Amino acid sequence: MGLFISKIQTMKSKISFKLIVLLLILSQSACNQTHTKTNTITTMKYNSLTPEEQYVILNKGTERPFTGEYVNTKSTGTYVCRQCDAPLYNSKDKFESHCGWPSFDDEIAGAVRHLPDADGSRTEIVCNRCGGHLGHVFTGEGYTKKDTRHCVNSISIKFIPSKEAVVEKAYFASGCFWGTEYHFMKAKGVLKTAVGYMGGKTENPTYRQVCTGETGHAEATAVEFDPTKTTYEEMVKLFFETHDFTQVNGQGPDIGNQYRSVIFYTSEEQKTIAEKYFSILAQKGFKVATHLERAPIFWKAEDYHQAYYNKKNGSPYCHIYRKIF
Ligand SMILES: [Zn+2]
Repeated sequence: MGLFISKIQTMKSKISFKLIVLLLILSQSACNQTHTKTNTITTMKYNSLTPEEQYVILNKGTERPFTGEYVNTKSTGTYVCRQCDAPLYNSKDKFESHCGWPSFDDEIAGAVRHLPDADGSRTEIVCNRCGGHLGHVFTGEGYTKKDTRHCVNSISIKFIPSKEAVVEKAYFASGCFWGTEYHFMKAKGVLKTAVGYMGGKTENPTYRQVCTGETGHAEATAVEFDPTKTTYEEMVKLFFETHDFTQVNGQGPDIGNQYRSVIFYTSEEQKTIAEKYFSILAQKGFKVATHLERAPIFWKAEDYHQAYYNKKNGSPYCHIYRKIF
């Protein structure tokens, strides 16, 4: 009996020893998890970023003032991190600062990390979950009662209205961007368009620089459409049906590489669809001069180029619709 009891005691102490070891291992792995969390940018899966999003979010760049898509947004909803979808700002905290970037006088509690900027004077703000660069925060300017201005790049955030809409992006260059945008902004299912410069090497180019031909940029139109109302195929068809895609480095009277014809695809699916139309056109006997390239950074053009024919109440001289498909 005595032997039996001491055997049970030995078993007990073995069990508690095992328990301690197990606990130690568990606490060790918890430490590792915490450690991994600090390196989130490299270890967690985030939304893939376009080159222009990477320029701001990863490389701490700044979008040009008054060009971001949320400068004047007033709708009710939440602004989430473009990279990791963490909710960062409420629309109720957004205010008009006329500084050229979306401004908020408060953040969602704990969502934004404040850091001394590399410039030694400003305070940088980053997403607390993924570390993505958002912009800077300023105090003492007297804009609102809270006396705080989060100056945030539109491209670092994504607006989620109460009812979320699905959006697909497409980019086309087909000569003078006034004419390209004119047709896309009228197309069914298109939510938004903008004109800009793509495919060259100069950052933040101006129209004047592009016109020298030295930047390598093409005049391009960015199109956002609702894929439940139209398709990328429809966009590609419209692209080919509204310009002379057989002309090399020019469009009608506009001559030069800034007027070249290009489809800038954003996914392998888009690339495959575009290639299908290259073959269809070849079969129809056309010698297609259009290039097919992965979309690089889209540099939004100056305000006076945006929706040009709408402002002027005119129609393009160089882009006339003709049915092909
Ligand atoms: Zn984030």
